Amino acid sequence: MSTFDTVGVLGLGLMGRGIAQVIAQSGLAVTVLEVDRDRLDTGVRAIGEFLAEGVRRGKVTESERAATLERITGTTDPADLKPVDLVIEAVVENPEVKRDLLGKIAAVVRDDAVVATNTSALSVTDLAASVPNPGRVAGLHFFNPAPLMPVVEVIAAVQTEPGVVDRLAAFVGEIGKTSVRAKDRPGFLVNRLLMPYLNDVIAELDAELATAEDIDVALKLGLGYRMGPLELLDLIGLDTHEHATSSAYRATLDSQFAPPPLLRQMVAAGYLGRKSGRGFRFGTHTAQETAR
Ligand code: NAD
Repeated sequence: MSTFDTVGVLGLGLMGRGIAQVIAQSGLAVTVLEVDRDRLDTGVRAIGEFLAEGVRRGKVTESERAATLERITGTTDPADLKPVDLVIEAVVENPEVKRDLLGKIAAVVRDDAVVATNTSALSVTDLAASVPNPGRVAGLHFFNPAPLMPVVEVIAAVQTEPGVVDRLAAFVGEIGKTSVRAKDRPGFLVNRLLMPYLNDVIAELDAELATAEDIDVALKLGLGYRMGPLELLDLIGLDTHEHATSSAYRATLDSQFAPPPLLRQMVAAGYLGRKSGRGFRFGTHTAQETAR
């Protein structure tokens, strides 16, 4: 028997679509919410493409692909989340948007439904405070891309009932991932270490210590990482990293989280990484152009 039978995922961007896919692949019914039909269709199509690629590579069977898509129901109406046992919020890293949506969803779902947020760097305790029954709110932080990354941080807010964290940790195991419990502090465990590293790398690129490509090659091969930091930023989304590191900076006033000027400029220019077609490494420009 699973800990939760039906799950709602809010937002079908980079993270929401991966989270919805993983859960549907594990055999559970998933209702996904987006702001409009276009975004919903784009997200569901991306899940279909990811699974189709899995079939081509022999990682997913054709029947698994079809069954996974069958288990995903899209909606633009929060009222359709009413029957779910667990809601995972994965909308933009903007506290007002998240609070507003969590409040709306909490009014729709059952009182005992668990409400989780995939925020990267906002306070889970603050978000929980926007829900009438905050004891059922916790952080469930997946990594990008969710279908491939095996670890999920489970974060207890100040208000979270201990049983909720235990159920979420059990759920993470049931969908084939490993859970780690982390304290509700900006960036939790992994991003707390990752954000200053990425900010330092951007400053290093801006100071022209090396080319973007050489920075990535050096850190990838020198530290045995699977991706260089600038490739990773393009994958994460430069706007998402800016939101996350800015909110960690506001919460701590610790300069290691201060968003570097080059990051701000890239975001202002609309160069957001893979999702916009241009980033530090992604796109047809040269790496040197990006730093200038
Ligand atoms: P994204 O910009 O790709 O997607 C966000 C989606 O939320 C968009 O499709 C948008 O239409 C939707 N949305 C906005 N308001 C909504 C609403 N009211 N109702 C329904 N949908 C709404 O962002 P993302 O990268 O998927 O990030 C989502 C969350 O996951 C953020 O909190 C982010 O910090 C966190 N996160 C991101 C990463 C990453 O690497 N990108 C990793 C872990 C966690």
